[in-house]
Amino acid sequence: MTFRFASLAGATFWVAAVALYGPSALAAGEGASARSPATETFPVASEVRVGGDDRQARFVMDLSRKVEIATFMLADPYRVVVDLPQVTFKLPSNAGLHGRGLIKAFRYGLVMKGGSRIVIDTKGPVQLKKAFTLAAAAGQPARLVLDLKATDRASFLHAIAVETRSDRGMASKRERIAPPANDNDPRPLIVLDPGHGGIDTGTRSKGGELEKDVVLAFAKVLRGDLERTGKYRVAMTRSDDTYVALGERVRFARVHHAALFVSIHADFLPRGEGQTDGASIYTLSEHASDAEAARLAEAENKADVIAGVDLTAEPDDVANILVDLAQRETKTFSVQFARTAIGELKVVTPLHKHPIKSAGFKVLTAPDVPSVLIELGYMSDRNDLKHLVSSAWRRRTAAALTQAIDTFFAPRLAGAANGAR
Ligand SMILES: [Zn+2]
Repeated sequence: MTFRFASLAGATFWVAAVALYGPSALAAGEGASARSPATETFPVASEVRVGGDDRQARFVMDLSRKVEIATFMLADPYRVVVDLPQVTFKLPSNAGLHGRGLIKAFRYGLVMKGGSRIVIDTKGPVQLKKAFTLAAAAGQPARLVLDLKATDRASFLHAIAVETRSDRGMASKRERIAPPANDNDPRPLIVLDPGHGGIDTGTRSKGGELEKDVVLAFAKVLRGDLERTGKYRVAMTRSDDTYVALGERVRFARVHHAALFVSIHADFLPRGEGQTDGASIYTLSEHASDAEAARLAEAENKADVIAGVDLTAEPDDVANILVDLAQRETKTFSVQFARTAIGELKVVTPLHKHPIKSAGFKVLTAPDVPSVLIELGYMSDRNDLKHLVSSAWRRRTAAALTQAIDTFFAPRLAGAANGAR
């Protein structure tokens, strides 16, 4: 076999960030605000500045008050990660898209309730000379300051190795996603998985609409439709603007014995690179069905790298071989659902000319849960984008998918009803 996600296999990494927001990080007042929905209680990041050249660089973020931070670095690609309590980022929408000198780019956003993160991509290996926050003083706001210096790869890797695992946090608090209301409820559980979230925006239209928002809005409408049928339990891997690691999404579906996992995305492709409009559905395969599917899987699998997730604690290939064995029947069901869904979707929304494809999507690797990834359309296409942000389109497309799910489950639900008599 096997599924080799180059730098990306793995499922046990989310814990790395969790520990940072354990009792110590949340103790001093941030805990209270983390539990409160009132956004204004969070510190506000109001400005960010990057200076320097290819040898050294300084990163400064203005904050409304001093916060505790924790930093670590990751290789391949080289990144500096700063974890901080939940911060409201009020920065220009293009902040971080382009860096300067050593700093190639950076991202920021929620990685969990109560926890924000900044991920800085660096041009090469760096040394984190200084990382600190300053309280407001002498007319200056509170600030987060990082000083970076270029170094060689060997020194960088050595520095990472010295950071002990416990520093990075290996707490065992695993449940990041709200569990379904009742695990004893016999109705099938459908897990809806809005892609990206928080620090990982997903694709971005020219006008600035973000995939993470578009897919969440759609998933909420679909959840409502499915719940109204009364036939299913429905859980979402995220229901707000929070990042959830890919492995965590898969793990959630498995632990709760989901009967179907539907990951929801929206693609982006510049004109002139093949057909760049219409919806498609993807299932898991070791070898991509075509070059476009391979490209897309690679892009979607990058989510954890974008979010600065530590992927070093990965399961080995032995686990993957077991996965391959268990997966076969699941695969048949996944493809069957994909076909049913395309049959319904074609009535309500334009489809890609090859709407059913497959590739090595990490989020589809639950061996025992039929899983599909829907690309609702292209954020880069004007007509598709019009649909993606339209509530009327959302309603009819969600209704079509609900119909497809009803068709998919009808034989099983009928069987269960007969069995109960
Ligand atoms: Zn996506």
